[in-house]
Amino acid sequence: MLKYTNHPLVDTGLATITAYAEKDEPYELDEADLEAMADYIAKNYTKPPLIGFIHGAVFPNSGYTNPGLKTEQDRRDRFGPILYGYRRSPPPEAKTCVFCGKPAIEQVARDYFPLLTGRGVINFYPEGDWGMPVCGTCLLAIQAYPLGSGGLLLVVDSDNPEIKAHFARRFLDYNLRAINLAQAGGDKAALRPEFSQRTLLVKTLLDARAMQKENVALKELFSITAYQVSNSGQSPSLEIYHLPMQVIGFLTDMNLAKYHTDWRTIVNRAWEVEPKTKRTKKKGEPFKPRRNYLYEDILNLPNNADRFIRTYFLRMALYYARNSKNDPRDNYSTKEESGLVSWGITEKFLRRIMHMDKERTEQMKKLGDTLADYVKAQNDRRFFREFFTVKRYDSLRTILIKADLAQAKNGQAPLIAFDTYISVFEDGEDLARTDWRLARDLVLIRMVERLYELKWLGENTDIIPDKDEEPETNED
Ligand SMILES: [Zn+2]
Repeated sequence: MLKYTNHPLVDTGLATITAYAEKDEPYELDEADLEAMADYIAKNYTKPPLIGFIHGAVFPNSGYTNPGLKTEQDRRDRFGPILYGYRRSPPPEAKTCVFCGKPAIEQVARDYFPLLTGRGVINFYPEGDWGMPVCGTCLLAIQAYPLGSGGLLLVVDSDNPEIKAHFARRFLDYNLRAINLAQAGGDKAALRPEFSQRTLLVKTLLDARAMQKENVALKELFSITAYQVSNSGQSPSLEIYHLPMQVIGFLTDMNLAKYHTDWRTIVNRAWEVEPKTKRTKKKGEPFKPRRNYLYEDILNLPNNADRFIRTYFLRMALYYARNSKNDPRDNYSTKEESGLVSWGITEKFLRRIMHMDKERTEQMKKLGDTLADYVKAQNDRRFFREFFTVKRYDSLRTILIKADLAQAKNGQAPLIAFDTYISVFEDGEDLARTDWRLARDLVLIRMVERLYELKWLGENTDIIPDKDEEPETNED
């Protein structure tokens, strides 16, 4: 009975064979299913468009994809033992397969398994033996994994088997169609995935059934690790992307009715836009975006969380996007998009991804509300603009003190409770928190949202500056 081994390449291969057999789980596979997959590989890895790609980037020097082999029989002699290894009985003294524990039939090196050392190289192996002992089924799974990988190279693993199966099925469907098209038209370009690697990863994830649920319980959450594997002879490489449980939790939260519409709009505005230069435009073909900047930035969370909030939630134009021809973030504008600024979405993000405690987020919301009400009541345009644009902590403090004094002069209760102020901006008296800019952005998000609801912002959009004149920095 076949089951997942927890090795990403072998498991992606098993999920691919399962999807090819149109079954749900590896344990349902029988020998006829393995035969069908092996036959497909024997037929298609050995001719264009796959032969060059597989030989160059996945199994360099593997016998059966070697373009130097001229006859069908030569090829069959080489791939027979590898592709159809599961038919053979293991020798009596067989070692154990390193992946599944069954008796092994072959000792495998990098020509049939990416990122290992070559044949005969004994470094990094036990007992001075080169390669790894592998059983016939795992060996077939390893030959099959490119078919269930994005762009034949992006392998996606998860602690949730349903997610592993989802990615392999999606990628297999796309690849089989693309291979057919490429064979029919003789054009390798069909093999290119629709989206850039990172966008493909997040977009495919969001299509999974497990991601469509609302209110996902903690125990149902999972994580994802993706590997962009190239085994190219000259420059093998491995790039790893990780989507932790917290990010998955945030993304499923965004299915809740109260966030869904705003979140969809935020995502839709992050697709690359058509470059203005005519030179890059192909005749007659409509522009199809390949990259979603928000999806790509999700893969760097939480390290880029401050910028993520400022760009996507506060809608500040991204300084670094100004030199790009197709980055939409150069045109983000709090002024034009204040209706998209949402404290609810931001708060979910703070709790799920930044683990900010509830008390602090509530203090920020309260401060945002108080300041917004003050701006509306006093029509203090100058305060709003200064709070929006302030770059130094001591200036921020002065702006707030001035507003507080103005409030006292009008005979109103003090604007800012001392405790609230301290917990939002300072570590101790007079000592700014290192993340005071983030705190300011967060208070601002609530202020913008509330002033928009109060219809004050609609009448005063001119006070919001168009763009930052310089990149935001983390220094004071
Ligand atoms: Zn095995």
